Amino acid sequence: MISTVRCTTASRIVWGIVGVVVLTSPTTTWAAETPSAVVIEGCSVFDPESSTMLTPRTIVIRGDKIVSVTAADEKVEIPEGATRIDGRGKFALPGLIDAHTHSVHVLDYARMTGDEVLPLYLAAGVTSIRSTGEEIVAATLVARWAMAHPESSPRVFTCSPLLDGDPPIHRDIGRGITDPAQVPAILDDLQRWNISTVKIYAGTGRPVGKAIIDEGHRRGLFITAHLGNYSAQHAVEDGIDCLEHIWSVYNYVIPGDVKREPGYRGRLDLSNPLCEALVADLAQRKTYVDPTLAVFRNMILLPDVPEVKDHPDNALVPKRLRDFWPVYLKRTGCPQGGALEDRRREFAKFQELTGKLYKAGVPLLVGTDSPEPQCVPGFSMHQELEMLVESGLPPAAALKAATLHNAAALKQQEYLGSIQAGKYADIILLTANPLDDIRNTRKIENVIRSGLVCQPAELLKRVPKE
Ligand SMILES: [Zn+2]
Repeated sequence: MISTVRCTTASRIVWGIVGVVVLTSPTTTWAAETPSAVVIEGCSVFDPESSTMLTPRTIVIRGDKIVSVTAADEKVEIPEGATRIDGRGKFALPGLIDAHTHSVHVLDYARMTGDEVLPLYLAAGVTSIRSTGEEIVAATLVARWAMAHPESSPRVFTCSPLLDGDPPIHRDIGRGITDPAQVPAILDDLQRWNISTVKIYAGTGRPVGKAIIDEGHRRGLFITAHLGNYSAQHAVEDGIDCLEHIWSVYNYVIPGDVKREPGYRGRLDLSNPLCEALVADLAQRKTYVDPTLAVFRNMILLPDVPEVKDHPDNALVPKRLRDFWPVYLKRTGCPQGGALEDRRREFAKFQELTGKLYKAGVPLLVGTDSPEPQCVPGFSMHQELEMLVESGLPPAAALKAATLHNAAALKQQEYLGSIQAGKYADIILLTANPLDDIRNTRKIENVIRSGLVCQPAELLKRVPKE
């Protein structure tokens, strides 16, 4: 049955997510009622614009939107019948956004459907995810499911399949392109699915890559890339919007005269001219970089070390996925990079480069690549934030990236990414200040998604055990 009465205000963002496909679907229903009003009184509020924690505020939510954020000495109108939350001594953050996830890929190998892990994101305070390369029909169905179940799901923004060389590296989610002339017809098709992002993949060379950027920009699309054949220098010069994974920078700052002997990647001098020039170019053009440190530590370089392999977060995912992770690691040849010490040094270099990008003024996104091995949906965002702070970002900068930058990369900054009147009521309420210690982002009392107040413990109960 169609039931859109209570989601009229939400429908604006619905169009942004999956557009006509969803709104004309007879399966579009809201499973939960949006409460009439919620008021959080007396909480500190993180403002990502100024990167500061504002003194106690009262946040008034009506339906799924924030209607006011007022200081103690300002007059505030409390709606009659509102649910009141005592926010004194607590800290409100905009809902986190994970800029790099897979809502279908990997899960399908583990015989799972994307909806099964969505409550994990919300339980961890991740109220939106950017899906980054899936089979488009399946990804759209997951996004529809998420939209119909705001009480247990983050918002899901979809992406193109991986636009790749022919044959594509991932045959199930890649689309091979050999000629730039093919690009307009492919984008015509993809735009019917109202994707948020177009992703170029490793087998694509410069002629096709440049055609995707040029044609995509003509259509107002956001173009990101996991690079391989197309160099970072060329992609940045051609106007790419974002680079996925720190690899997409690191692999292009190794001078040609460096000897490729064991462990060389962990000994690179990042003050070399090639690196300095690329970092400066990224900063000057404001090209986003989404380092996804979690997947490099947890899957590619250090999946075998106890603090990663036995991380308590890993126990939160269904057994099917947990059992599949070692199979997938073996299939993909992980860990990569030789001896453990070499691998540790290489990861340290990835963090050093991330810090260097931040200090140079390159805008960073925060993504995890969950649910790749040992990247737990939602909870790996907290790991990623910790690793960004270890890399040299102040906690406020890491949080700004995870909220405002990620919202901007989705072209949703009008609706998401900060706690401001007029935006969607996606808020997490913490019991400790994350600017004092970034690990405090885990101390979540409530998650509010579209004005719905959710308890993390209850959300975790919705995740299948097996
Ligand atoms: Zn990925």
